[in-house]
Amino acid sequence: MTEPLEIKNIFSLRGFNTFDIEAKTQYFINLVSQSDYQAATKSKLVRENPCFILGGGSNVILPDYYDGVVLHPANSEIKLLEQKDGHLYVEAGAGTRWLDFVNHCIDNGWYGLENLASIPGCVGAAPVQNVGAYGKEAKDVIHRVHCYDMADGSQRWIEAAECGFGYRWSNFKGEWKNRYIIDRVVFKLEEKFNPDVTYKALAQALADRNIDHPTARQLADTVTALRDSKLPNPSEIGSAGSFFKNPIVDSDVFETLRKANPGIVAFPAGDGRQKLAAGWLIEQCGWKGRTLGRVGVYEKQALVLVNRGGCTASDVRQLADAIIADVRTRFGVELECEAIFVNSEN
Ligand SMILES: Cc1cc2nc3c(=O)[nH]c(=O)nc-3n(C[C@H](O)[C@H](O)[C@H](O)COP(=O)(O)OP(=O)(O)OC[C@H]3O[C@@H](n4cnc5c(N)ncnc54)[C@H](O)[C@@H]3O)c2cc1C
Repeated sequence: MTEPLEIKNIFSLRGFNTFDIEAKTQYFINLVSQSDYQAATKSKLVRENPCFILGGGSNVILPDYYDGVVLHPANSEIKLLEQKDGHLYVEAGAGTRWLDFVNHCIDNGWYGLENLASIPGCVGAAPVQNVGAYGKEAKDVIHRVHCYDMADGSQRWIEAAECGFGYRWSNFKGEWKNRYIIDRVVFKLEEKFNPDVTYKALAQALADRNIDHPTARQLADTVTALRDSKLPNPSEIGSAGSFFKNPIVDSDVFETLRKANPGIVAFPAGDGRQKLAAGWLIEQCGWKGRTLGRVGVYEKQALVLVNRGGCTASDVRQLADAIIADVRTRFGVELECEAIFVNSEN
């Protein structure tokens, strides 16, 4: 006999979103075991109501009230499945905190995740937007993903090559939006530590610390220190990290922009295209450190919007729209939100 699902009613999501929005949901279900996933995805409640999958809530802007069911993956087992030809196949439950997972792997001598240290959120969300930092992306280490189909409760493995990974993108955000709930992810890690220090700021930070040949722990610690110097700590200041994606433009657009703005910050994005630093564009529009009502732009990084106390999704929307409009007027560039506005219709 499987245990019945524990369904919470009118449940506060205050502790479940890093923007610290005082949100509530009509129904909330913790998913701990495989039978929880099965029961939830086959349940009438999920079938007949709007449904949202909430991991660590570090990339979402929640509404005051979600009129539907919030499913919260909470399984957090980490298992070494196989060690073969210098690779380690490691499985982690969707509810595992990403930073715990990275630390666990480093402590066990399973390498490849160091540059992704200290990203908030859970393992189950990592494939969704293909989390990335300091020159690495989740796609570099994801082997395959296991999920349940929300339409009929069936299960399937999805190989990394099928996921359509791109910059802060995957099919889970596109054609598969709202279709699958990921319950575990298998990563392909390395036995041998091979540091990736191609990201300029990371190489510089290591040099500043007089580290020529970093250990995995030193690399992860340096990444964490860099992150701490630029990003707000979610336990102190509410935010969703980088709020906007860095826009990617064609080379001719970039050349025109560069002529008009010699200081523009950009990075090659492949195929001759350039990824513009959205933070720079926002800063040029005078938004860095500014406040609009209960929400503002972080003083140390213009890409980050922060809760100044008691903000709601509509406060955040208003500020985001004002920034998008200013960047469009000044540079002719369209900013896109990386953070996801949640409502019962999407
Ligand atoms: C201070 C700060 C710094 C950050 N730095 C970075 C960074 O360096 N790089 C980066 O890429 N991101 C960064 N982020 C954004 C965020 O941490 C990542 O997007 C993270 O992967 C979100 O994980 P989460 O569990 O909090 O997902 P949530 O915010 O809960 O959900 C995000 C999306 O994933 C979906 N989802 C979540 N879990 C599942 C699941 N199990 N199955 C299916 N869908 C699911 C949700 O429905 C939603 O659409 C940062 C955020 C903060 C607050």
